[in-house]
Amino acid sequence: MDDVLQPALDERRAQNLYRERKIIASPQGAEVIVGGKKYLNFCNNDYLGLANHPAVIAAFKNAADEYGVGSGASHLVCGHTALHHALEEKLAEFTGRPRALLFSTGYMANLGVVNALLDKSDFVFEDKLNHASLLDAGLLSGARFQRFLHNDLDNLETRLARAVDAENTHARKLIVVDGVFSMDGDCAPLPELAALAKKYDAWLMADDAHGIGVLGERGAGCAEFFNLDQQQLPILMATLGKAFGTFGAFVAGSEVLIETLIQFARPYIYTTAMPAAVAAATLKSLELVIAENWRREHLQQLIKRFRNGAEQIGLQLFSSNTSIQPLLIGAAAEAMRWSDALAARGILIGAIRPPTVPANTARLRITLSAAHSETQIDLLLDALASVHSPR
Ligand SMILES: *Cc1c(COP(=O)(O)O)cnc(C)c1O
Repeated sequence: MDDVLQPALDERRAQNLYRERKIIASPQGAEVIVGGKKYLNFCNNDYLGLANHPAVIAAFKNAADEYGVGSGASHLVCGHTALHHALEEKLAEFTGRPRALLFSTGYMANLGVVNALLDKSDFVFEDKLNHASLLDAGLLSGARFQRFLHNDLDNLETRLARAVDAENTHARKLIVVDGVFSMDGDCAPLPELAALAKKYDAWLMADDAHGIGVLGERGAGCAEFFNLDQQQLPILMATLGKAFGTFGAFVAGSEVLIETLIQFARPYIYTTAMPAAVAAATLKSLELVIAENWRREHLQQLIKRFRNGAEQIGLQLFSSNTSIQPLLIGAAAEAMRWSDALAARGILIGAIRPPTVPANTARLRITLSAAHSETQIDLLLDALASVHSPR
């Protein structure tokens, strides 16, 4: 077997696309320790600085004392505790939807939703830059699968208009997008997508992994930011491992949607429930997300400061008002060179290469967090300036 597998590994290495894991020896935060060395960290998704928050840790510990560690079973057997249930109710309230349902990961939530709703007689329309889990979900469903050009409403409309239900089988049409695109940081034009969905009798789903906590007055994400109710955005999915600083994911929507997922979403049914202590920690971080508006305000200040500074250096930014502030580099090898040069200056930033992003669009995926200070943003800018034009 190894002889068969080895050539693909060699090829990856030759293309500068080989991936290696860093071993982290500290909690997540503005600084992390790798290989005994401290780095300024600009590559995690802990956008509000909650992953290592004392109150979140305390909630986790208390719940572990009360409920133990393992949840023991799937939600449908006997793994669904009062803490999971309370979190679902709070998340429904937070997103302004009648119900919410926890999933063990965002990847599984996406597979679960799309596959519970569609089969091969249906249509699914996905933005070209959607997260891998959404693309995999669409492919797995067997539905007629189309990728439209990124944020291109005309391209989507042409495809919707062409998707005729020739056999009159009441084929379903599902439009699926990232609320905030994970490698570019820009938002989907959700109000316009909702209007198209209405016009073509399609359903709209947004994956708000990167918007939840960050966008909107209370941090309820893209739905709050664009003021979209359940009619306009009937399927709202978000993850808990990013701005919430914990782990897991949820889907919010109507009573009927959630009951459908409980009955038919296989990645919901056939997996162990997240530990109750994770649900308890998330209940605490939800409280902080809502109450501590200063985290979002501080983050927005940092984003402005970073963008102004980067522009002055002459770096190529993406149009993004979120935590995700990538720098376009181009060639994979060049992105690696930047990432290594920054690491040598004590700054950790991931080089994102194909196939995660399209060919020749390798980039440094810089992520900003409320855990950062203005001084740390300035250190980042200084380091970028010196790698950009070495003295
Ligand atoms: C991170 C992410 C996911 C996956 O969520 P996990 O909980 O990490 O499995 C799904 N969609 C998007 C857009 C993401 O960024």
